Amino acid sequence: MSPMIRADHVGSLKRSQQLIEAHQAHDQGKLPDAELRALEDREIEACIRMQKEVDIDVLSDGELRRGGWTGDFVYAVDGFERGTPPVQLRWANRDLAQTAQAQIITKPLKQRRRFTRTEADFLRPRADRPWKVTLPAASYLVSRGYKPGVTDKVYANRSEALAAVAAILRGEIKALVEEGVDYVQIDNPHYPDYLMESVQSQWRALGIDPTQALADDIAADNASVADLHRDKITVAMHFCRGNGGSAYWHSEGSYEPIAEQCFGALDFDRFLLEYDTERAGGFEPLRFVPRNKTVVLGLISTKVSTMESPDLVQRRIEEAARYLPLEALALSPQCGFSSTLLGNDISPDQERTKLALVVEVARKVWGKA
Ligand SMILES: [Zn+2]
Repeated sequence: MSPMIRADHVGSLKRSQQLIEAHQAHDQGKLPDAELRALEDREIEACIRMQKEVDIDVLSDGELRRGGWTGDFVYAVDGFERGTPPVQLRWANRDLAQTAQAQIITKPLKQRRRFTRTEADFLRPRADRPWKVTLPAASYLVSRGYKPGVTDKVYANRSEALAAVAAILRGEIKALVEEGVDYVQIDNPHYPDYLMESVQSQWRALGIDPTQALADDIAADNASVADLHRDKITVAMHFCRGNGGSAYWHSEGSYEPIAEQCFGALDFDRFLLEYDTERAGGFEPLRFVPRNKTVVLGLISTKVSTMESPDLVQRRIEEAARYLPLEALALSPQCGFSSTLLGNDISPDQERTKLALVVEVARKVWGKA
């Protein structure tokens, strides 16, 4: 494990309007790779500088090269095709019928190229403190990509597809470790699906048993981070409830129904949990977190520009400490600032102030590591 990171953040940061337009032009074939890359480089330099100035404990590249939080995985790996998702998520404030398409597994998965190397190579020489790279979870990719009637022609069951995705992720993570990454974070909006009866009933209708699926998911996510030297690297999982622009989310409810199984069995050093609204329930489920793991409390919202009161955030941390010792806790915003290209309705100044608030409260509670 790297030095204790108390002031954490989920990773994605807002892109400038210029970078958003450059991504769009590039997608339409109107902007050459090199020009987009040069602009990304400049903006990533600036966002690294900002993170150092606010003195956050871990750096990211803001995911500025990505069109969305999942990054390049489905473009670097053959076998995916866009299509209707196997289950519909009910996004708050958004009509069910408008649910985005998913990347469906239609052929055997084959990795053609690395998908995080460019990000890591750029960040490493600029980092004066621990730095992180984020990747989508195997269980997430399969939950959205395994479609009975289509995928089972290629992989006989969910477990086989999970094993294939986990093996690719594991190879990528091993390479990142060799390249000196300090912190790998697996982003996972899938586990909170298990809090939603509306999703589970759709799985059952497809012949997927949620109890078995949860066990298979945990096994695959563990396989993706198996046999790493944990003294050299921190491995985290972010439980995401959906962050499609400021207004949209898809999961609600206490972590209680999945806490014992997920926190107990997932072989991760840190869990980044969304706790920004009552939608997440109370801190009681933290009693299931084993004492050698850290929970990063996502108490500061990236969805709203209103600034949280430092005292209130501190009191919430103290409340959480009734279930898990203070030494096993850390602080961050609940999610990224820009899970999508357009990101949340928050200005760069507000983003900076929110990160500074994470640092301010973390220093007050834990001091400087
Ligand atoms: Zn999230």
